[in-house]
Amino acid sequence: MTYKHLKINKRDSFRPVLQKSDKEWELELSQDQYHILRNKGTERPFTGAFDAHFEPGKYVCAGCGTPLFYSGAKFNSHCGWPSFDAPATDENITYLKDTSHGMIRIEIVCSNCGGHLGHVFDDGPTDTGLRYCVNSASLLFKKEED
Ligand SMILES: [Zn+2]
Repeated sequence: MTYKHLKINKRDSFRPVLQKSDKEWELELSQDQYHILRNKGTERPFTGAFDAHFEPGKYVCAGCGTPLFYSGAKFNSHCGWPSFDAPATDENITYLKDTSHGMIRIEIVCSNCGGHLGHVFDDGPTDTGLRYCVNSASLLFKKEED
């Protein structure tokens, strides 16, 4: 219902700006970050660092530092993962159709490095109607004064 303004990209035609080999990513990222960002893993609910984290600031991509979400867009979804109702900027997040696990979902990835963040759903409780459900391990937090 509220997906209509999102630009859903074809998986084959999306090419991240930042290109690195799996080996390079493996050296730079923690095991959890690598599993989620590069292998599209999912952290267990209620285990991530930012699920119940509500300080003012911004959340950037753990792979490349691109700003992805502001704390003002964060809400408690009670689903066990950090949830936001809007991205920091439209350009920084890319939407990809995901038909894995027998479902049709919209995967969200970092536009710059292609890192997997999570999925977006159209059952959000705020005006945007969207719920960006993100793995904590995909994100780093920058306090407002930074
Ligand atoms: Zn990134």
